Amino acid sequence: MSDTIFAKIIRREIPAQIVFEDDHVLAFKDIHAQAPVHVLFIPKKPIATLNDLQDGDAELAGRLLLAAAAYAKREGFAENGYRVVFNCNGDGGQTVFHIHLHLLAGRALSWPPG
Ligand code: 5GP
Repeated sequence: MSDTIFAKIIRREIPAQIVFEDDHVLAFKDIHAQAPVHVLFIPKKPIATLNDLQDGDAELAGRLLLAAAAYAKREGFAENGYRVVFNCNGDGGQTVFHIHLHLLAGRALSWPPG
């Protein structure tokens, strides 16, 4: 896949407000936050879309979810609640082709989305 803005963030070529990192996952604040809390959890491995996930990526995909839940608990909004979203391709609203889990919190989130 071609290089993305998120690959540049992983390599620290462009700045981001990083809130979590381990060997597999990086999390940083979304530059255009849609809620008081809006953090993106990405695998360090470049995977373009959810459609490109392989069976061998199952643990990595789970790590994104676990990292998001751990962040919610650490930051104290887990009990109030939050939303996690993967956008996929055009109709899903995906604009950066390196998979990312959006974590949104800090206000009541409407459902269904527009
Ligand atoms: P998508 O629309 O692909 O699901 O989400 C991409 C997200 O990446 C958007 O919410 C957008 O605001 C965020 N984003 C795009 N470029 C940057 C950037 O350079 N830095 C950060 N922190 N977020 C970005």
